[in-house]
Amino acid sequence: MKEAFFILIVLIVLAGFTAFRYRRQINAMLNLWRTLQTIRQTEQSNGNRIQDEPAAAGPLVNCPKCGTWVPEEKAIKLGSSAYYCSTKCLEASVRTV
Ligand SMILES: [Zn+2]
Repeated sequence: MKEAFFILIVLIVLAGFTAFRYRRQINAMLNLWRTLQTIRQTEQSNGNRIQDEPAAAGPLVNCPKCGTWVPEEKAIKLGSSAYYCSTKCLEASVRTV
């Protein structure tokens, strides 16, 4: 049992030396890890925001080209009253007019 304890101490000392020697790399890794966590949290909060969006979104507008209903803020506005769901529909309608 004493030997196991001694080995443990040696391992801890070695780990300490290793940590001291590679502290820059460890710090960099910690920073990277923190950055990844921040990104993940941001993604999660964004995901929640997107899920909540239909309730919070403004009025829906109807795309005159394909008939899709899209939130006004996401629609592409043409002139004063025409809204299109995508540039594809906008271009298509501009071509036909
Ligand atoms: Zn459309």
